[in-house]
Amino acid sequence: MAGPASSEGAGRPPSIDRLARQLAGTGLPHPVLVDVARRAVETCGSDRVMEVAAEDAARRSRGLLQPVVNATGVILHTNLGRSPLAVSHPAGYSNLELDMASGRRGDRSAHAASLLALAAGSEAALVVNNGAAAVLLALTALAAGREVVVSRGEAVEIGGGFRIPDVLAQSGARLVEVGTTNRTRVADYQRATGADTAVFLQVHRSNFAIIGFTESVSTAELAGVGPPVVVDLGSGLLDQGCPWLAGGPPPWLRDEPAVRQTLDAGAALVTFSGDKLLGGPQAGIIAGRGDLVERCRRHPLARALRPGSLILQALQDVALAYLERDAGITLPLWRMATADPVDLRRRAASLGVGRVVDCRSVMGGGALPGVTMASAGVEVDGDISDRLRAGRPPVIATVRQDRTVCDLRTVLPEQDAVLAEALQR
Ligand SMILES: *Cc1c(COP(=O)(O)O)cnc(C)c1O
Repeated sequence: MAGPASSEGAGRPPSIDRLARQLAGTGLPHPVLVDVARRAVETCGSDRVMEVAAEDAARRSRGLLQPVVNATGVILHTNLGRSPLAVSHPAGYSNLELDMASGRRGDRSAHAASLLALAAGSEAALVVNNGAAAVLLALTALAAGREVVVSRGEAVEIGGGFRIPDVLAQSGARLVEVGTTNRTRVADYQRATGADTAVFLQVHRSNFAIIGFTESVSTAELAGVGPPVVVDLGSGLLDQGCPWLAGGPPPWLRDEPAVRQTLDAGAALVTFSGDKLLGGPQAGIIAGRGDLVERCRRHPLARALRPGSLILQALQDVALAYLERDAGITLPLWRMATADPVDLRRRAASLGVGRVVDCRSVMGGGALPGVTMASAGVEVDGDISDRLRAGRPPVIATVRQDRTVCDLRTVLPEQDAVLAEALQR
């Protein structure tokens, strides 16, 4: 492997410098182009060096983190950063850890976390880097060296290698599995409870369903047994009543457990992601009883898992949107999720390119398995997905039976013009 690109020309063959300068049109900084040129010189014969270097530079330029048009119809697309963001951030400093009243050192939980707690009807909340970190911290802080009781049907893998038994092992707690894969009863938990039981853990089966001969224990039933109940909700729907949606909760949210109702049912703590059904940036939230949230906050691991001001600012905007009850309008996630197929069809027709087609969108992100939403988009013959992805901005589309489909549900209306232009080319 070539070493890091240095800014001095010392020891560098002049040919590499010259080659790098010839690539300047790609917009990449010179040290990156020097690295591109060096690799090209090392790996191929002199006749193809320019061609190989130009391809590599184009590939690196396209690979930079950048906005893309999501025309897949998957609202929480794992490859596209899950929840669509609505952020514009002022440059410079913030009062991240400054108490504005006293002028002394403040607490970074005072902004986004406390507003989220209010929005969720929880005593307190703590923000960490993602949902996995929230589970890890909660279990480590509350149960290290002790036992955590989990139903066999909930000792699951969420995806991306996040397995409840593994996270539990990392936390230093001991997993005590109860019940069976399809049926677990309160008596199973009661029998497993002893002096060493730290918490009961319930895990939302975010991305699959068990149907048929099944039985599980509700949070309310479990909360009556004794040990605190921690519920890993995953997707983080804030309130089953969706007071931020003018039309109330959509039917496809019917079976999705929500933060407020789970806490009302007696959960001591819940954990959830910021970038699933909350509609915010990547983050993990621990919410619930003040004393337990405080134990999480004070644990040394909390510092290793805390997010910075960019995330907290974006999350504060999200919390304010819920508290203002206009999250249905201000958060792109909810605008997309509740878009009327008739409007989507009209937008598709007004693109003036391709055939207008009906399609089905999904929530994605490991949330709401099996749920699809009627949608509309445009379709063109052949697989042009590579060409769309190579455009500026890149457009990510779906290919079905040698036809390229663009679902308008996940395309921001202000992106319609660039989508039409990309399809026209
Ligand atoms: C998504 C999910 C997680 C992991 O959250 P990340 O934000 O992806 O780290 C954990 N538990 C459940 C139930 C989930 O759905």
